Amino acid sequence: MKNLAVFYCQECGYYAYFPEEPLPLCPKCSAPKPILQKLGVSYSRFIRLDQRIQDYYISTALLDRAQKDSTASAADSHDYPHAIASMQHHITDLENENKALNDTVTWMHDTIWQLMREQRRISRGAQEAAVSAESENEE
Ligand SMILES: [Zn+2]
Repeated sequence: MKNLAVFYCQECGYYAYFPEEPLPLCPKCSAPKPILQKLGVSYSRFIRLDQRIQDYYISTALLDRAQKDSTASAADSHDYPHAIASMQHHITDLENENKALNDTVTWMHDTIWQLMREQRRISRGAQEAAVSAESENEE
């Protein structure tokens, strides 16, 4: 099995796990360009981290990258805000995703309880029916 690594997109902040070869492209940005960057944390370590720490690693990598780029070419030095903007965009995405997941969990919880109550009501109804049938037979 190929070794997986954590890759992130410095354009939009998207990140995911891919085999190290060939270098993956960002599925969110328009092809063919943004090749994803490999994160300096190993896959096995990354997946055991808390979501917030994962986000921290990705954010730091994005900022580092933006900083390096801006020192490499002075013309691109104003690209820093762009990196921060895309990071905020990414965070908003994550928050929305989180909210959607929470809503789903709440919905599932409610549905399960509703089903359980219904089942209890049905089995109680069946018991009562059985009891009244018995008492009718006794008379
Ligand atoms: Zn991207």
